[in-house]
Amino acid sequence: MIVILKKTAERQQVELFENWLRSMGLELHKSVGENHTIIGLVGDTSRVDMESILALDIVETVKRIQEPYKNANRKFHEEDTVITLANGAQIGGGRFLVMAGPCSVETEEQIISVAQSVKAAGAQVLRGGAFKPRTSPYAFQGLHEEGIRLLLKAREATGLPIVTEIMDAKHLPLFEDIDMIQVGARNMQNFELLKELGKLRKPVLIKRGMANTLQELLMSAEYVMAGGNEQVILCERGIRTFETATRNTMDLSVIPVLHQLTHLPVVVDPSHATGRWELVAPMALAATASGADGLMIEVHNDPEHALCDGPQSLRPDRFAGMMEKVWAIQPYADRSFSSAVAFS
Ligand code: PEP
Ligand code: MN
Repeated sequence: MIVILKKTAERQQVELFENWLRSMGLELHKSVGENHTIIGLVGDTSRVDMESILALDIVETVKRIQEPYKNANRKFHEEDTVITLANGAQIGGGRFLVMAGPCSVETEEQIISVAQSVKAAGAQVLRGGAFKPRTSPYAFQGLHEEGIRLLLKAREATGLPIVTEIMDAKHLPLFEDIDMIQVGARNMQNFELLKELGKLRKPVLIKRGMANTLQELLMSAEYVMAGGNEQVILCERGIRTFETATRNTMDLSVIPVLHQLTHLPVVVDPSHATGRWELVAPMALAATASGADGLMIEVHNDPEHALCDGPQSLRPDRFAGMMEKVWAIQPYADRSFSSAVAFS
């Protein structure tokens, strides 16, 4: 961080300011010019509040040169994070994880049948929403507690670990047996929820908000990690742009960019990114080739009658066809931005 002081700054005030900075464990590099004095702050500046420095009378400008996230930063953790689930499946550092299942849990038959199909096609995790963040309060909101019970039943039947979305920290007791907790796009910046998830010691998948930058996504990961929970997975699921031909715009280049910035695994959800089932396979392949650590795909046994997101859901046979291609190209994915070469 660099602080530029005003020409009018009085020596006594500057000294007080410098002592305050040093009390935070920072080392100061000072350069006194004719018009300005520049102070370079060396050390962990992630806890330094830029705005309170800027508010000081003696300060002209302040600039961050180091990212404000530390735990998620590749600079402080060169090796890719690898997360292992109950069934031994892993994600990160070249281990590829596919999570698949319906948008929402509807019935016991539906979730078990989809779980069996996606497992047969090679998915290692079952997804399914029990709490659904719907735009309309009149739309199907999910089966809540009963949905969680059915997910655990599907896990019992197939051995697949479960990932499901939490919308409110008060529901946490219901998620005790869930393997991976999803934070949806709409809750990416629900900081109180993120703090609660930081107290857990289980994987948290954070979806990028539809109008959020990568830095904001990484700061959300930082909230969870600052609490001591280091098992965070990042998910690109499309952002809001002017384009209306697809539900969202899949921001594919974030994969190598995130691999440069962070050691955390990065997955892509082409279902929500495109909103159309026929675009899911091509975009899943593109994400795989670009070095994603995994995919999240919506699969439904009867998409025409799905209670949520039917138009973007693959039928099990189409999912199986897509998976064959994914496995074929995954070994050739460009992982040049992962830890293997990023710091060579
Ligand atoms: C979902 O995964 O079903 C979902 C609601 O996703 P998103 O938060 O990305 O919209
Ligand atoms: Mn959905």
